Amino acid sequence: MKILENVLLKELTTMRLGGAAEYVIEVEKKEELAEAFEFIRDKNLAVYFLGEGANSLGRDEGFSGAILMNKIKGIRILEESEEGGEKYMKIEVAGGEIWDDVVKFTTGRGLTGIEAMAKIPGTAGAAPVQNIGAYGQEIAQTLETVEAYDTLIDEIVEIPKEKMNFGYRKSIFNSGETRGRYFIISITLKLKRGEIRQPFYNSLQKYLDENGISDYSPKSIYQAVAAIRAEKLPDPKEIASAGSFFKNIYVDDAEAERLEKLGVPIRRGEAGRNKVNTGYLIEAAGLVGKSFFGFKVNEKASLVLINESGKSFSDLEKAVAEIARVVKEKFGVSLEKEPVEIKEN
Ligand SMILES: Cc1cc2nc3c(=O)[nH]c(=O)nc-3n(C[C@H](O)[C@H](O)[C@H](O)COP(=O)(O)OP(=O)(O)OC[C@H]3O[C@@H](n4cnc5c(N)ncnc54)[C@H](O)[C@@H]3O)c2cc1C
Repeated sequence: MKILENVLLKELTTMRLGGAAEYVIEVEKKEELAEAFEFIRDKNLAVYFLGEGANSLGRDEGFSGAILMNKIKGIRILEESEEGGEKYMKIEVAGGEIWDDVVKFTTGRGLTGIEAMAKIPGTAGAAPVQNIGAYGQEIAQTLETVEAYDTLIDEIVEIPKEKMNFGYRKSIFNSGETRGRYFIISITLKLKRGEIRQPFYNSLQKYLDENGISDYSPKSIYQAVAAIRAEKLPDPKEIASAGSFFKNIYVDDAEAERLEKLGVPIRRGEAGRNKVNTGYLIEAAGLVGKSFFGFKVNEKASLVLINESGKSFSDLEKAVAEIARVVKEKFGVSLEKEPVEIKEN
């Protein structure tokens, strides 16, 4: 276990903002967690769990407390099985593994289930928190269990998928009373040997058609998704961003009807859960490519805000308020932000 003091949050987050965290505790083995929480309790510190900081925003005042980072590594094959003529493999992935390395590991073994989530930045430990997803796949579809340190009872527990209340960018780990309660140590995935099944996500199908690709093996789909993402999403190593800054929004039937009359495309869902493509709202409001206080609305993926020259979190807040104001004025819709601020729960 490593304990560092006064570490700038802008060094730990991909949006590259934020003042100093009082402590950063890096945990390399799960056995160190009891000691880490003892340190946190002894000093009566607030705590924030952090992976690669690809969905976390540092605030200007920094963080008065401890940032607990999962640096536990390892991918283990647990079992191979056959059910109804299909072959499966279960793997256990330590939370400190880089998610894209996990996708490479599985696609390299001919396993399907997470290949469309190639190149999502961040750690495996953070993946269930907002139920990461892309191009038609989300982790809820292949996740089996999570091993976590339960800070309420100071014990390591195993949580089955059924108890994680997954939704769009939502789980027990980031919502309700259980938000911030569990430090994820490792995750277990069950993946199938074989190929992703059609119908594919529209933009993926389009890329495959345009490039004459009929090989749907996990490795081939990994490469296709990686190429699509490289074309439109900023690489956090080169360009500061937190990925999609705004979430897609779900509205009831009456609101869907109102927006449709304004020309907004809506994907109708069951039980009044209708999906509004927030990217469309931003585009139709004429915000694409515009910069506000050093933060630019990305040209190729309009939900993404790029930190071009923004120096402070308060400037980001001003930029977001301006974008939200314009969208609200034009469509009467309130934008919801996806990344999480690093602050006390
Ligand atoms: C360029 C770019 C593209 C992106 N594309 C996508 C995309 O296609 N789909 C998508 O879903 N997301 C996307 N994201 C968002 C981001 O990649 C995911 O949210 C990812 O899971 C973040 O991982 P992280 O380790 O960086 O999390 P962090 O930002 O470090 O943490 C995110 C949240 O998880 C919590 N957390 C972190 N580690 C743990 C742990 N061990 N235990 C418990 N809680 C923990 C944090 O407290 C915080 O609430 C993108 C981001 C960027 C920058």
